[in-house]
Amino acid sequence: MAETNPDLRPPVSGATRLAAVIGDPVRHSLSPALLNAAFAATGMDWTFVALEVAAGNTARAIDGLRTLGLAGLSVTMPHKGAVASLVDRCDETAEQLAAVNCVAVQDGDLVGHNTDGDGFIDGLVRDAGRDAVRGTAVVLGAGGAARAITQALGKSGAAEVLVANRTPDRAEEAALLAGSAGRAIPMAKTVDAVRSANLVVNATPVGMGVDPNPSGPTPINPDLLQVGQVVVDLVYHPLETSWLVEVRRRGVEAYGGLSMLVFQAARAFSLWTGREAPVEAMEIAARAALASRPSI
Ligand code: NAP
Repeated sequence: MAETNPDLRPPVSGATRLAAVIGDPVRHSLSPALLNAAFAATGMDWTFVALEVAAGNTARAIDGLRTLGLAGLSVTMPHKGAVASLVDRCDETAEQLAAVNCVAVQDGDLVGHNTDGDGFIDGLVRDAGRDAVRGTAVVLGAGGAARAITQALGKSGAAEVLVANRTPDRAEEAALLAGSAGRAIPMAKTVDAVRSANLVVNATPVGMGVDPNPSGPTPINPDLLQVGQVVVDLVYHPLETSWLVEVRRRGVEAYGGLSMLVFQAARAFSLWTGREAPVEAMEIAARAALASRPSI
C-alpha cells in the first residue's frame, strides 16, 4: 500500500478556493491527486477538481473560469491550443508553443503558461544532475510533449537538440523551438544520433499501456544505448515501460515520465499560490494514484 500524507487543510467552507483541470477525457487525469496532495501537505484552503469540457466548448469554459473566479486552471487535451488564444496573455514559453497547460490569474488577467518543458528539466536535473541537460539530446517524437521539451532543452543550454519523428515536417517544426541548438534528423539517421547522444528522450506514446516485457514495444532498439548516456521515457503508465526495463538491464541510467508529471504540476502550484511546491508529497500521491489504476 502506498504511503499517504495527512490532509492539513481546514474543512471546505465558503472561503475555500477552487482550482480545476479541463479536458476531454479527463476522468483519469492525475492532476486532482497531485494538486490536492499539494494543498493538503501545505494546509492551504484550496481544493482541485476535474471538469470534463468537450472540444468546441473551450471559450465557454474560459468564460466560466472568469465568472466563477477559479483561482487556477490546468489544461489538457483537446484544449491546450485553444486556451492559448483565449487568455488575456501568454508568457513567452506558451506563446512560442501556442499551447497552454496552466492558467494563472494575475491582477485580474488570465495568463497562459506551459509548464511541461520546465517541469521536464526540473525532473531531469533532480534525477540525473544538471550535466544531463547540457550535452547533445535526441528527442523521439514531435507532438506536444516533444515540442515542450525541445524548447526547454534549447533554453537550458543543450549543445544540440536533434528531433526525430515519423512525420518529418513535424520534426522540422519542433526543432525550430530549440533555436540554434535544434535540428530535425531523418529517421534513417536516428540510429547514429542515438548512439552518440548524451541524452535520449522518448516523447512518443510507444510503450504506453503495455505491461513491461522483453518483447514489448520500444521506441528505439535498447541495444543502441550505452553506459554513460541518460535515457528518459516520458510514458508514466506503466511507470516502467519495456524500453526502460531493457535499457536499465544494459546498465544505462534511465528514468520514466513520473518526474516530468510531478514537476510540471509543481510549477502550476507555484504559479497559482506563489509558494514552493511540496514535491515529495505530490510524487507519493501520483504513485498511489497510478498504483490504484486498473492493471494494464
Ligand atoms: P502527441 O502530441 O499525440 O504526439 C505523439 C508523437 O509521437 C507524434 O510525434 C507522433 O508522430 C509520435 N508517434 C505516435 N505513435 C507513434 C508510433 N507508434 N511510432 C512512432 N512515433 C509515434 O502526444 P504527446 O502529448 O506529445 O505525448 C507523447 C507521450 O508523452 C505520451 O506517451 C504521453 O503520455 C507522454 N507524456 C508524458 C508527460 C509527462 O508528464 N510525463 C507529459 C505529456 C506527455 P506523428 O507526428 O508522425 O504522428
